[in-house]
Amino acid sequence: MASGNLFILAAPSGAGKSSLIKALLERHQDGSMQVSVSHTTRQPRPGEQNGVHYHFVSKAEFEQLIAQNAFFEWAEVFGNYYGTSKQAIADTLQQGIDVFLDIDWQGARQVKKLMPQTATVFIAPPSRDELLRRLQGRGQDSADVIADRMDKARAEISHYHEFDYIVVNDDFATALAEVEALVISHRLQQTKQASRHSRLFAELLKQD
Ligand code: 5GP
Repeated sequence: MASGNLFILAAPSGAGKSSLIKALLERHQDGSMQVSVSHTTRQPRPGEQNGVHYHFVSKAEFEQLIAQNAFFEWAEVFGNYYGTSKQAIADTLQQGIDVFLDIDWQGARQVKKLMPQTATVFIAPPSRDELLRRLQGRGQDSADVIADRMDKARAEISHYHEFDYIVVNDDFATALAEVEALVISHRLQQTKQASRHSRLFAELLKQD
């Protein structure tokens, strides 16, 4: 049976994770990879569409999904619930399509326990100053708001050592090439290739 690879990308806000995932998907429009759409109880931000960026649900709906055992993983992240539904990934993986989960360290831990073959990637900013600069955004937020963002970023970064791969996003093109390289090398693992190319090997090994 075909089975896609599962990848987790985690990062603090300001590391450029969403842009990297978007660019990677744009470079691979052959249907070989997809990003999973999570459920969340947080409010949509301007420009976010229900069913595209997230499935936006109420707290009661989310709790009902937990009770129904509908989540592959879920966590409370900074006061809101976030979760990956089983439905969001199972069918896609079964079709041999790789799935990316854009989730936090708590979700990464749960998934790694359930599926140890998952490749987990941590995206880090290149320096503290650069992180601060990215978190300051357009410079319209108060010092308290920025300090709070920095605290949250530090909380995520403190788990960097739990991940299989680390990509430092200094130069975007380099970081993208690195994420792409690890995705492709993961796909090329012997066991994956052996099942993908079982006919080829059977033919190559046929006695004359
Ligand atoms: P944001 O609200 O900025 O979109 O996301 C906040 C954090 O929640 C990010 O670190 C993001 O990766 C994480 N997140 C998004 N979806 C999920 C999910 O389904 N599960 C978990 N565990 N974390 C998620």
